[in-house]
Amino acid sequence: MLGLMQSQPLLISSLIDFAERHHADAEIVSRRVEGDIHRYTWKDVATRARQLANALDGMNLPFSGRVATLAWNGYRHLELYFGVSGSGRVLHTINPRLHPDQITWIVAHAEDQVLCFDMSFLPLVQAVHARCPSIRQYVALCEADKLPADTGIPNLVSYESWIGGHATRYEWPSFDENSASSMCYTSGTTGNPKAALYSHRSTILHAYAAALPDVMCLSARDSVLPVVPMFHVNAWGIPYSAALAGCKLVLPGGLLDGKSVYELIEAEQVTFAAGVPTVWQTLLGHLKSEGLRFSALKRTVIGGAACPPAMLKAFRQDHGVEVLHGWGMTEMSPLGTLCALKKKHLSMPIEEQWTVLAKQGRAVFGVEMKIVDDDGNDLPWDGKACGDLYVKGPWVVREYFKGEGGDPLVYQNGVGWFPTGDVATIDSDGYLQITDRSKDVIKSGGEWISSIEVENIAMAHPAVQIAACIGMKHPKWDERPIVVVVKKPGAEVTKQDLLESYEGKIAKWQMPDDAVFVEAIPLGATGKMLKTRLREMLKDYCLPGVLTSL
Ligand code: ADP
Repeated sequence: MLGLMQSQPLLISSLIDFAERHHADAEIVSRRVEGDIHRYTWKDVATRARQLANALDGMNLPFSGRVATLAWNGYRHLELYFGVSGSGRVLHTINPRLHPDQITWIVAHAEDQVLCFDMSFLPLVQAVHARCPSIRQYVALCEADKLPADTGIPNLVSYESWIGGHATRYEWPSFDENSASSMCYTSGTTGNPKAALYSHRSTILHAYAAALPDVMCLSARDSVLPVVPMFHVNAWGIPYSAALAGCKLVLPGGLLDGKSVYELIEAEQVTFAAGVPTVWQTLLGHLKSEGLRFSALKRTVIGGAACPPAMLKAFRQDHGVEVLHGWGMTEMSPLGTLCALKKKHLSMPIEEQWTVLAKQGRAVFGVEMKIVDDDGNDLPWDGKACGDLYVKGPWVVREYFKGEGGDPLVYQNGVGWFPTGDVATIDSDGYLQITDRSKDVIKSGGEWISSIEVENIAMAHPAVQIAACIGMKHPKWDERPIVVVVKKPGAEVTKQDLLESYEGKIAKWQMPDDAVFVEAIPLGATGKMLKTRLREMLKDYCLPGVLTSL
């Protein structure tokens, strides 16, 4: 056929080539695990990614061979993103907060051959290496002189000596854009973890979409801080989108407390940051207690767990920072929806705008979504009908790595949809609102209660640091909600006060039966509340008026 456009595979190597050619001097600033600040540019990332690719060729790591990382957000991790995938291998980012047994299981399952780790994870690697027979090369992400002489780990080199001797010239190979580029295991809260295997094509399309104005709105004028870790779903794709847009990138290392994050934001004049709500909660707490303000920050994407409206308001009203509430998942690379207003919303009263902004948002082009009832029938987009959320699109998983768990898709009229495990409404403007994860849904007297809604009300109380709503067995109603709360340091609130704050906000039967104060709510490896652990913690708890825990 005549007249078609050029067919060029969408490959990750093209991103780093582009960043080098067009944004060579845009900065990459990293807080290293050693504590100091490291600065260089996209040109340096590209040069060293090529050296790394030569090192991988040098050890004859085959096409699609897996290179694992146990690392914080930092420049060497960034080089691995491009050098490993660009040369045709698969980058396997491992969450270092997982249990060592899970890590050894994952390494064996992925058949990782190289493991690169930050020095802060040396003790972890020392504990697991004997159980990782597939690894033939360990690489400590440090200079040669920072590597202790006797670590007990075989075949261990420092990253700098590993790539240092290699040529800076490298011809990135061309191959099928549907080849695997990177992988990430889901947290495996039920059963063994399963890996989403991203492709070059899915990653590039996702990178384009993430940079769009109503998504992350990334430009060559931005200084971008992914607080979201590079070990979880490719830091929401930010490293790739930043290369595509030519952003300055600020990588925070392992120091994610409010003070450290604030100082970095100010020092590097960060304009855009992204992370899960728990990180921002700590940051806002620090700003408040110290009376601080942001001088450059304009936007944040908060997602990975529901962003309480109180947090949204605090950012906008107290700090003039726009919050985009986002929803996604590991199986979706991860972006699904982002919440930006439409033109027609701008003339609405501010309270109505808040109602829209508290939702998880509109689908990003590339993601199709729908909600269905228990029989799989499509539900209307009326903002009321609540059902299981299904998605499909070019960056949504088709099958887990090695086909684990069988075919995950649900087929309707021959079309495969991925069931997200989330329960949601969608309104007539296409705004998605997640009410629960299906496994967290609370069913009381046959009616669903949204745990997110109950949590959001508690989080709006000035004395509440973090709140989780869980269902407790009840002899009559099956389940009743309780709210488990961690108070802000030094703040006081009684159980009665807190429960009274629900008056008039939700229906009586949706209000929690009890408020339980705890020192801490267990958080998972990605900073999300672990409700399964919380339920275990409270296994001897009895609802008021119920005699035994059921
Ligand atoms: P896991 O924690 O299982 O590895 P992901 O990190 O992929 O999973 O998390 C995906 C899940 O996180 C979603 O299915 C949803 O339940 C929850 N989630 C993500 N973003 C939001 C949000 N903005 N609001 C509510 N829930 C969210």
